[in-house]
Amino acid sequence: MKVVIVGNNVAGTTLARAIRNANQETKIDIYTEESVPYYARPKLIDFVAGNIDEKDVLFYPVEWYEKNGLGLHLGSKVERIDVPGKKILVGEKWHSYDKLVLANGSSAFLPTFKGMPKDNVFTLRTLEDAKRIREAAVKAKRVVVIGGGLLGLETARALATGFPLLDITILEYAEHLLMRQLDHKGAEILQDWIAQGGTKVVTRAETEEMLGEGGQATAVRLKDGRTMDCDMVVVSAGARPNLQLAKDAVLDVHRGVIVDGSLRTSEEDIYAVGDVAEFEGRVWGMIPPALDQARIAANKVLGLDGPDYAGTVPSNILKVMGIDLTSIGTVRSEHETPDAGFEEIRAVSPDGMIYKKFVLKNDVMIGAIFLGTKKGISKVAKMIKDGQPVGAVKEKLADPMSEI
Ligand SMILES: Cc1cc2nc3c(=O)[nH]c(=O)nc-3n(C[C@H](O)[C@H](O)[C@H](O)COP(=O)(O)OP(=O)(O)OC[C@H]3O[C@@H](n4cnc5c(N)ncnc54)[C@H](O)[C@@H]3O)c2cc1C
Repeated sequence: MKVVIVGNNVAGTTLARAIRNANQETKIDIYTEESVPYYARPKLIDFVAGNIDEKDVLFYPVEWYEKNGLGLHLGSKVERIDVPGKKILVGEKWHSYDKLVLANGSSAFLPTFKGMPKDNVFTLRTLEDAKRIREAAVKAKRVVVIGGGLLGLETARALATGFPLLDITILEYAEHLLMRQLDHKGAEILQDWIAQGGTKVVTRAETEEMLGEGGQATAVRLKDGRTMDCDMVVVSAGARPNLQLAKDAVLDVHRGVIVDGSLRTSEEDIYAVGDVAEFEGRVWGMIPPALDQARIAANKVLGLDGPDYAGTVPSNILKVMGIDLTSIGTVRSEHETPDAGFEEIRAVSPDGMIYKKFVLKNDVMIGAIFLGTKKGISKVAKMIKDGQPVGAVKEKLADPMSEI
């Protein structure tokens, strides 16, 4: 059997490895638009920070692919899929497949601000992007980071680490940072800590225009008229699945390429995994679901028995500006109207350095935030995964020092 994989990041590589582990005979070809073998995108943060070199960003050398009998085709964009003919077009050549897996991920989203394009406005998705950002940061004095989500904060931290003299301002459109992971109280604590580190945060900041002549942004203008001077801008406004290939092949797409529990698309022999896939209305855009999906899809592609994909409990464990932040499962915020059966329990340490929040539905824990501590996270993650009622543990949740 011949399997062709489009995309060589975490989803494509994990899938190729899982297929190879299960079966030595399958012919596997991986096509990637990028010119380097697999690297984990979180490492780009360390690269921008100057903590690691380019060679340390790369995860597998080319020899790993050779050793595992995987045909790696770098710099090879898949232009089209001929569904009835079961072949893909790369450059001028068609290549046949028995099973095709789309692991072609997402691209950084760049909103259409007035005054664009500008040469010093960047997004961070690829190693090439990271190199360009470093090059610009060497010469810059002031940087504006647009977007106070996880990636925006991590990018700001990387720039602050790698270029300590940079004046950094984070602009967040919403009323607080990390809208998806934090509630208002948690964000307030985080924002204070970020400010203590010297990075400015402006919330309710809706960017409207990049000001500046000759292709260079010299200031960002907000909708309310405020302007922020800058020598460079990094936009971190999320990512969008790369859908063109699937659309041209007339696969069912919505926000992503729609898949069922077998990770199969609307075409029998075409699967989709990772950031490009949409399962039960959700495009995950994170590494843990990409890993889960790729491992499950490997079995399905080979026709082996195995569980269907049923979703992943979202979990982010990270350091934001040196502060431990974990967000697991459903993290409701005050802006949403609580549904019946929902309960939120919060705990703040007396010095304000530890903040925890637990979200319960009908006494079952469905989400949690830990800020400033990692103690007890594994127990909480297990409780969320198991879906058992919290029982007597509930009493301990309001104690910030409790390990549960
Ligand atoms: C800086 C950064 C930090 C991150 N940190 C975290 C983190 O800490 N935790 C977390 O869970 N997630 C993190 N993410 C998100 C995570 O990296 C993605 O969820 C993950 O990379 C998705 O993997 P993927 O293989 O599905 O797609 P992608 O990583 O998008 O890879 C798809 C690949 O397919 C290639 N491709 C696209 N179209 C074609 C085509 N037509 N032909 C050939 N090749 C094609 C692309 O060039 C790309 O190399 C981070 C992302 C970034 C950018």
